[in-house]
Amino acid sequence: MWVEPKELGPLTPKPVYQDLVCSKCWQANHDEVFKRGFKAAGEFKSKRDLIQTTDGFLCLSEKVRELLIRHRVGGFKIKPIGMDGWYVVNVTKRVNAVLVYKAAEECRLCRRAKQFCGGYEFERQISLPKNPRTVFTVVHERQGPHQGRDVFVTGDIVEILQTAGIKGCRFNKMYSSEEENEMKRRRRGGKEWWPPGACIDL
Ligand SMILES: [Zn+2]
Repeated sequence: MWVEPKELGPLTPKPVYQDLVCSKCWQANHDEVFKRGFKAAGEFKSKRDLIQTTDGFLCLSEKVRELLIRHRVGGFKIKPIGMDGWYVVNVTKRVNAVLVYKAAEECRLCRRAKQFCGGYEFERQISLPKNPRTVFTVVHERQGPHQGRDVFVTGDIVEILQTAGIKGCRFNKMYSSEEENEMKRRRRGGKEWWPPGACIDL
């Protein structure tokens, strides 16, 4: 979304996105940016196959795109970035969830929160999708400079990526009520404890 600065100084939006960016807090709605497309992105390369850009977009390689199509994974749309075999993801499956993000003060111009913190940890916080092989997000947009949406996947997608040898991304497990109770019980003594498999690094 941004022009690479040649020297130290403030980032400026690319002209194609200029009218979508708040001139005070520099936030933009990621859905609107996605609608406009990423033809002007220029060269885009990474050794990994799934990355989150610093301006809050999830991007995937041609290899992951083919894999998700082959396994009929749903819940998202993609658009190409330039011509290099990379794609930006827009998660279209949006589920209800309790609001866990804590907002700081609002921007006086666009009324977006200047910063959101907090995140989802437990299955009970989210209305889980009924279909397997689903990429999804919550109805609440995470706000703050360069923030995107929190992206969730059903466990079978992690297995698909793992089996295909996709490397370089991390998944954090959402805990069931049993796991949450076990965490509470074990943490009563003051020690940190997470259920096995809490974090999966591909
Ligand atoms: Zn603003």
